[in-house]
Amino acid sequence: MKTVSDYFGCNVFDDRVMKSKLPADIYKSLKKTIDEGTRLEDRVANAVAKAMKDWAVEKGATHFTHWFQPLTGITAEKHDSFIEPSPDGGVIMEFSGKELIKGEPDASSFPSGGLRATFEARGYTAWDPTSYAFIKDKTLCIPTAFCSYGGEALDKKTPLLRSMEALNKQALRILKLFGNDDVKRVTTSVGPEQEYFLVSKEMYEKREDLKFTGRTLFGAKPPKTQEMDDHYFGSIQPKVQEYMNDLNDELWKLGVLAKTEHNEVAPAQHELAPIYSTTNIATDQNQLTMEIMQKVAARHGLVCLLHEKPFAGVNGSGKHNNWSIGTDTGVNLLSPGDTPYENAQFLTFLCAVIKAVDEYQDLLRLSVATAGNDHRLGANEAPPAVISIFLGEELNGILEAIEKDKPYTGVEKKQMKLGVDVLPRFNRDTTDRNRTSPFAFTGNKFEFRMLGSSNSIACANIMLNSCVAETLKVYADQLEKSKNFEADLHKLIQKTIKEHKRIIFNGNGYDDAWIKEATEKRGLLNLRTTPDCMPLILSDKNVKMLTSHKVFSKAEIESRCEIMLENYCKTITIEANTMIDMAKTQIAPAIESYIGKLAKTVADKKAIDASLVFGYETDLIKKLSVSVEKILSGAESLKTKVAGLAKAKDIIDESYKIRDGVIPAMTKLRAAADEAEVLTDRSYWPFPTYGDLLFGVRN
Ligand code: ADP
Ligand code: MG
Repeated sequence: MKTVSDYFGCNVFDDRVMKSKLPADIYKSLKKTIDEGTRLEDRVANAVAKAMKDWAVEKGATHFTHWFQPLTGITAEKHDSFIEPSPDGGVIMEFSGKELIKGEPDASSFPSGGLRATFEARGYTAWDPTSYAFIKDKTLCIPTAFCSYGGEALDKKTPLLRSMEALNKQALRILKLFGNDDVKRVTTSVGPEQEYFLVSKEMYEKREDLKFTGRTLFGAKPPKTQEMDDHYFGSIQPKVQEYMNDLNDELWKLGVLAKTEHNEVAPAQHELAPIYSTTNIATDQNQLTMEIMQKVAARHGLVCLLHEKPFAGVNGSGKHNNWSIGTDTGVNLLSPGDTPYENAQFLTFLCAVIKAVDEYQDLLRLSVATAGNDHRLGANEAPPAVISIFLGEELNGILEAIEKDKPYTGVEKKQMKLGVDVLPRFNRDTTDRNRTSPFAFTGNKFEFRMLGSSNSIACANIMLNSCVAETLKVYADQLEKSKNFEADLHKLIQKTIKEHKRIIFNGNGYDDAWIKEATEKRGLLNLRTTPDCMPLILSDKNVKMLTSHKVFSKAEIESRCEIMLENYCKTITIEANTMIDMAKTQIAPAIESYIGKLAKTVADKKAIDASLVFGYETDLIKKLSVSVEKILSGAESLKTKVAGLAKAKDIIDESYKIRDGVIPAMTKLRAAADEAEVLTDRSYWPFPTYGDLLFGVRN
């Protein structure tokens, strides 16, 4: 039998393949490009293209594509076959260095937020050699960045790579101050934990809302959901296990280090976590993972729902973004060290993150903002929309001791003086297990838990890398001028703790009292919805920071704001129209049919003997008739609100109209339908219920 190590990465043009297929000098030159970002010579590109094509064709590939991540949030590909006619009437398989390096897809159908007028339809894709090419469905997929002809980024990969570069540059300056001259490169790594729901395909097909919007827009709460806590880590249903096994196989072949799988909090909810990798690769692989999850589900008669809130009232799906900063010499800069110097360095990076998260709460919040995630944040076991950092008691105690120049009383009584003392070793286990924090330190990494399950992790990591690059820059600017490094570092860290401790919160983030304290006492931002936060990307502070690190140009920031808000408005408009349709053509008629049946029953009983009618049926008829009226008038007023969007001045105004008008009307309509659902004979209800969907995947 073949073991995993025999086929792991068999569809990836990875380092092993490159080493064996490329001439030594070509391999060396390509490696230099990958590791140090040097320019790729044409000669090298041609040789790599040939080796890649030969390898892919040998594995049955017929096409190649530049695989990229436009701002729609999903990946895009346009397939070209390798065939070239040969003089004898046959074909040969060709692929040049030029085709490898650069593509020119018609960019006019991808969102650009005004960056690329439609008449300038051309955009181009450029090979990203730091992410391996792979074969999917007989197609060689080449990870690429996607830009306009003017060079503006039209994708998520370009700014992500730029943000990694910004952080690299600033972190190297700090490391130099600590005497780490051997470090050549600093990169961030991410392990994204992906949550998802599995539902029966047959039931899915019967629900317009799932098909059009990825979530249920109606549905009364069934008698049981997650209150028994019996699903999380529960034993996995055989049907689900078969799916997971198949999924792992597919992912392993594509070189994705799928590692952990388990049931999640809600019924029908599960999680998959890979082993962490460089942020760029983790982002590409997470996109690929989401695609494969859906494909494999279809083979098993299932549908994989990646929406953040497929079901109201039960746990939503997120993506925990485990993030750390490491050097090419193998040091995790977020891990406390053994020597005083290592510890001071650790505290410097830790404080840079604390300062960054506090100063750029708005950017972090908006980096995870989508219509879907708005439903999840702050509801049913998801972190609130207020950002805070969890450090754990011990690390918190250490920071307090440093702030106040007091002895640290945790492990030993000790005055904490940076550069002299070794930090007490704190117990890693006590640092985690606060599941309620949006941004938790977990011993050697931060876990950013606000990301939505369907969104690319690129956005969150672009902002995270950029704002930490900024605080590291502020530190480096000061410390490079210092005449007494240790004393000045100590002061800098103390100052950071004093100024930014408001962002540290070790209590229960789900508690309402916390939201009150956070906003009223601490002045933290509570940006509940996408329209609340997205326009803040345009503030002077944020534009200045992002442009100064060359992560975005001002025009790119404006276009992204536009695209994200457009996406929000379109998503909710589709949801509203789907609701109107379901209410009018399915729900109301179903209730009317049931009313008809009840009326007939009453008439039949009366015909036999009037005393058989106790009023129960007539009461129900009255109640349901009121419901139908509420549903139909609710659908009408929702329609009016949607029509009113045409009058919006601009996209920001439209998003406010949605937040304040359309969404409340949707909530009202839903409440009326859900009320009627529990009064209606199940056999009349026009589509599968919450109970059917949540408990429908059984063997
Ligand atoms: P949990 O208890 O939250 O499930 P794990 O230790 O299992 O935590 O890690 C979850 C994710 O974090 C995995 O994807 C793992 O690979 C990733 N991870 C572990 N260490 C690091 C690190 N230093 N940097 C980034 N991600 C990491
Ligand atoms: Mg975790």
